Amino acid sequence: MPELPEVENTKRYLIESGIVGSRFLSTWTDSPTKWIGFGKETFKEAFLGNQVIYIERVAKYLVVHTATDHFLLHLGMTGWLRLQNTDTPAHKFTRHVFHFDDSRELRFMDSRKFGKIVYGEPLKKSLLNDPLSENFSLTDLDDSVLGRKRSIKSILMDQSIIPGLGNLYTDESLFQAKINPFTPISDLTKKQLISLTHQIKLALGRSLDEYDVVRGVDDSEPYFSMTPWDIKRKENAPCFNCDSPMQFSRINARGTYFCLQCQPI
Ligand SMILES: [Zn+2]
Repeated sequence: MPELPEVENTKRYLIESGIVGSRFLSTWTDSPTKWIGFGKETFKEAFLGNQVIYIERVAKYLVVHTATDHFLLHLGMTGWLRLQNTDTPAHKFTRHVFHFDDSRELRFMDSRKFGKIVYGEPLKKSLLNDPLSENFSLTDLDDSVLGRKRSIKSILMDQSIIPGLGNLYTDESLFQAKINPFTPISDLTKKQLISLTHQIKLALGRSLDEYDVVRGVDDSEPYFSMTPWDIKRKENAPCFNCDSPMQFSRINARGTYFCLQCQPI
């Protein structure tokens, strides 16, 4: 699933591909129900004839701005985007197309169709707890979150608190910070929260560095999970740090790997 680094990588890809300045000519879709908040004529009235001025990422949303308006793209579970010439054959999972007046198209591929295009909805405040932003720190979460008995893993996976970390980045960060995923967040010291914040940023940053190397080299397929993980996602595999057998459990139904030696409860 695209998480924060994948969405950030997509934003960088679009900008480097030169989408800024392109002018909307028309659209096509095979999944009209995925256009949320759009009336029959909304796109035509609000966007056709207008240029893309800039693209930003807010948590896992890409925000496409024209001079006067904006809409959101969410990649869902399997979505990916490419800016291609009109005569480039379309991928079989192409669901939505934005045609531009420069013979190029923004193509939205999505095999499982959980992606969406959203208009007119305000972004939720929780999206501002963006782990890729410089100011992000777990120590700044509301006391109502920090005081809870809920496990740190389930807090990190809760999109309404921290958007876009996902299962793999969460497990890796907890492993590197030597924190057991079952630890209630209220039991973590400030020092542990700072360390975990640091490891979250490192894991996301390592992933972005990988994407920066491969982006634009072969754009025929989406890039997922480029991160060089240290955590072994295999039960009983020897821990990268101490050779103890890796443990497997489920937290909120998500497969969770950890080392009891390095991450004691
Ligand atoms: Zn270990």
